Amino acid sequence: RVAAPRPGATRVVVVANQKGGVGKTTSTVNIAAALAQLGQRVLVVDLDPQGNASTALGADHRRGVASTYDALVDGTSLDKVASPATEVENLWVVPATIDLAGAEIELVSVVARESRLSKALATHPLIGTAEQAGEDRFDYVFIDCPPSLGLLTLNALVAGAEVMIPIQAEYYALEGLGQLLETIDMVKAHLNPRLEVSTILITMYDARTRLAAGVAEEVREHFADQVLNTTIPRSVRVSEAPSYGQTVMTYDPASPGALSYLEAAREVALRAVGVAS
Ligand code: ADP
Ligand code: MG
Repeated sequence: RVAAPRPGATRVVVVANQKGGVGKTTSTVNIAAALAQLGQRVLVVDLDPQGNASTALGADHRRGVASTYDALVDGTSLDKVASPATEVENLWVVPATIDLAGAEIELVSVVARESRLSKALATHPLIGTAEQAGEDRFDYVFIDCPPSLGLLTLNALVAGAEVMIPIQAEYYALEGLGQLLETIDMVKAHLNPRLEVSTILITMYDARTRLAAGVAEEVREHFADQVLNTTIPRSVRVSEAPSYGQTVMTYDPASPGALSYLEAAREVALRAVGVAS
C-alpha cells in the first residue's frame, strides 16, 4: 500500500451528525484504520457512551475501565487512557464506557465544561506540530460523536479543527443537517474560530436506486467542495466486522466496503493541503 504523506501537524477531525445510524462510527473506525494502514499514526477518541467505536477496535470498554470519561470529568491525561487497537498497527483508541452517559450531566457544573476535551488534546505530548510533538506525533485524531448535539458533541466541536459529516444516502438525509450546521457556526463564532466542515462522506450508498443517486446529487450541490468523490456502498461485510472486534479493513480487506474506505481515507489525506489544523 502506497503510504500517504504525513500532515505537518496533528489533524483533529470531529465525526458528527446528530442523527443516529448514519455511519459515524463505521466511518470513524474504518477511515482511521485505513489511514493507519497508509502509514499514519492515528488516535480514535470514542465520545459515544455506547462505545461502538471501542468495540470495533477491540478495546475493552466495560464500566470502570480507564476511558474518555476520566479524561473529561477527572482531567486524567489522554495518553494514560489510550490503548493500542488490537488488529491494526499505528492505531490507538481512547475507549468510551457507559459512565460517559453521566458526563453530559456531571460536566454541567464543571468550569469551562465545553473545553474539557480541547484541553485534554492540547496537553497531550504527541498532539501538535512536528516541532512540538516530534516524529512520534499523531497525524490524526478522530472523535466519534454520539447522536446528539449535547455537551459531549460540543466538547468535540471545540476541540477539533475539522468536521466530517457522514450522510446516509436515504430519503431524510438532509433533514436535521441545518441544525448541525447552525451549531457548528455558533461554535465557530464563539468558541473555536478555526472550525470548518472539511469533509462530507456519503455512506450506505446503493447505486441501484434512483433515490440514492438523487440524494447524492443533492448533497453534492450543497457541499461541492466538501463531498468526497468516494461513496461508501452498503455492504454486509462492513456491518459484520464489529461483531468480530474488527474494522472491515482487517475483517475483509478486499471487500467493496474496505476498498471504498481505503479510497476515502486516501482522499482525506490528500485534501490535507489547505486545511487548517
Ligand atoms: P452511527 O455511528 O452514525 O450511529 P453506525 O456507524 O453505527 O452509525 O452505523 C449504523 C448501522 O449501520 C450499524 O449497524 C452499521 O453496522 C451499519 N452500517 C454502517 N455503514 C454500513 C455500510 N456501508 N454497509 C452496511 N451497513 C452499514
Ligand atoms: Mg455511533
